[in-house]
Amino acid sequence: MAGSPRFIVLLGPPGAGKGTQAQVLGKILGLAHVSSGDLFREQIRAQTELGRLAKGYMDGGQLVPDTVTVAMVRERLKREDCLRGAILDGFPRTPAQAEALDQMLLEQWGCKVERVPYVRIPESTLVERLSGRWTCQQEGHVYHQKFHPPIVAGKCDIDGSALYQREDDREDTVRQRIRVYLEQTAPLVEYYRQRGVLVEIDGDAPITQVTEALVQGMGAG
Ligand code: ADP
Ligand code: AMP
Repeated sequence: MAGSPRFIVLLGPPGAGKGTQAQVLGKILGLAHVSSGDLFREQIRAQTELGRLAKGYMDGGQLVPDTVTVAMVRERLKREDCLRGAILDGFPRTPAQAEALDQMLLEQWGCKVERVPYVRIPESTLVERLSGRWTCQQEGHVYHQKFHPPIVAGKCDIDGSALYQREDDREDTVRQRIRVYLEQTAPLVEYYRQRGVLVEIDGDAPITQVTEALVQGMGAG
């Protein structure tokens, strides 16, 4: 096992806790955390053409088209910090993206997705999670006003940058994102179950408890 690349896909609806857990797991497993949502938000901040395109979809709670999303993630995975693998958060989100990822991994690393923790959570919890979410400007670290408050209000514990509330965390957009998840992303549960890599995790528990379940589920503890 030592030395072989490890790619872990965190699957679950918006607000399930993927970003929160990916940050911790990345440290535990020594793997890069690759979030497609963070990559799009970087492009928006940098005012690139891709950022302008993505913003239209993101503000409406829709998915950015597969071709541009796959191309962006492909470029990100070429960076040196992904030589040993990565924890993917928010990608893939459609069957076409999952197939593109399989192909990428086979061509570049000669490997497959190792594990897909599917973070399950009742829909009723998601809106509360997302409406209380505060995100850091710099690196996308996430907090929650009630469940995971920062030490200093309005500031990221890790890099000190200002926290903001994402536009797409408004209740109407959240409901649209959940619909899109159910239609386009939920089929990936079966996709990965059939490949024998899916592991179901109860996401409706305190953050540290979910981390423990994930570590156990990956046989990494
Ligand atoms: P995702 O990346 O799946 O959209 P996040 O990791 O950003 O989800 O979490 C959504 C919100 O819920 C954030 O405000 C985060 O602090 C909070 N959160 C994450 N995990 C838990 C948990 N286990 N219990 C309570 N709140 C959580
Ligand atoms: P997230 O940060 O994962 O909640 O993603 C925020 C938004 O970015 C989504 O609602 C989509 O509009 C867009 N996005 C992120 N990842 C993807 C993806 N893999 N495919 C398509 N759109 C994505």
